[in-house]
Amino acid sequence: MEKKPFLTLQQVQEIAKTYPTPFHIYDEKAIRENARRVKAAFAWNPGFKEYFAVKATPNPRLLQILHEEGFGCDCSSLPELQMSRACGITGHEVMFSSNVTPAKDYKLASDMDAIINFDDITHLDFYDKIGEWKETMSCRFNPGGDFVLDNEIMDTPQEAKYGMTREQLVDAFLYMKAKGVKHFGIHAFLASNTVANEYYPALARILFHLAVEVQRETGVHIAFINLSGGVGIPYRPGQEPNDIMAIGEGVHQAYDEVLVPAGMDDVAIYTEMGRFILGPYGALVSQCIHQKHTYKEYVGLDACAANLMRPAMYGAYHHITVLGKEDALCDHTYDVTGGLCENNDKFAIDRSLPEIEVGDYLYIHDTGAHGYSMGYNYNAKLRSAELLLREDGSVEMIRRAETPKDYFATFDFTGLFDGIE
Ligand SMILES: *Cc1c(COP(=O)(O)O)cnc(C)c1O
Repeated sequence: MEKKPFLTLQQVQEIAKTYPTPFHIYDEKAIRENARRVKAAFAWNPGFKEYFAVKATPNPRLLQILHEEGFGCDCSSLPELQMSRACGITGHEVMFSSNVTPAKDYKLASDMDAIINFDDITHLDFYDKIGEWKETMSCRFNPGGDFVLDNEIMDTPQEAKYGMTREQLVDAFLYMKAKGVKHFGIHAFLASNTVANEYYPALARILFHLAVEVQRETGVHIAFINLSGGVGIPYRPGQEPNDIMAIGEGVHQAYDEVLVPAGMDDVAIYTEMGRFILGPYGALVSQCIHQKHTYKEYVGLDACAANLMRPAMYGAYHHITVLGKEDALCDHTYDVTGGLCENNDKFAIDRSLPEIEVGDYLYIHDTGAHGYSMGYNYNAKLRSAELLLREDGSVEMIRRAETPKDYFATFDFTGLFDGIE
């Protein structure tokens, strides 16, 4: 698939008059359309609910938009729970999928009546001293071994710190049953950023078989299966995107083949997608501020890995468009860098691009999930603003850029930073 920006050079020039680069910007119209496709794909399941993985893009305005589309929140920490609650998203609209969970996080999840998804069996005794046993609770499963799809190893669950073994899951359900829990969920996340329509259906089939067995062994009511996140997006041009309708249909087929014959046709399907929900509908817009010609050709941006960590952290590919030069020949080869004192602060290495001049705007694609949120303050670099391109074409600031004052806010040397803007 060809990768096209959702903004033109003219739009960015106009926006930059009010909001200087760099900034992350999100496309409301495309977000809503995608949310509706997700709902349509699972409309066959009356209990279906997507709990947006807040960690992917923790912005209240975006959580509210997704909530308007019927999505809840999947939270992993106390501040994420607080953000969700501040947006009016609470109770069973919140899934709490956390690991190595602190006591106060569990306490708030319990107080909010969120659905708690336990990562480990030892957490049950831990939770017993802190929170209330609710009617509905959930456990995270880890099947161990390799996760194979079409003869290809997608990931290695036995190396993953998450989830419990089958035996532990059964014991956990019996423990909770004795505490009065009535409805149970099973959750698993086995592979990340899968660009394969078969991932969810294969995972669903594993969890459906497990649900049937566990239901028979323990007699508990399995109320939902949570397929979690992991549905990917095509970061590279030419990659075939996931077809969410085919994914929904694949899960439907597994449901009809495994759960329905077992008399378990009331099981709700939950998802916790982050990347698939927002990834393609956000971009990091940055300006070229320097060029350097040494042993390689460098283009230096006003953004750095503090604004988008994925390339530095995983060598992840993010497509780059030079705005206004969409149709120009890519006859130059550049390393596109930020200004951190780390040589891995490169948005692209040996990338073929049109000739770039100082002042050009570069549009870094697919930063809508795990983009801004992975930001950090190394080199005392400040995090950028987040903007929303509204359906009517107007632009709304949904998070201001950090200032030095924010960076100094955790010091209390009274007076020292007075007068700093
Ligand atoms: C990160 C995460 C997600 C979201 O993953 P995506 O790859 O963004 O879909 C969902 N659930 C849990 C428990 C996670 O840790």
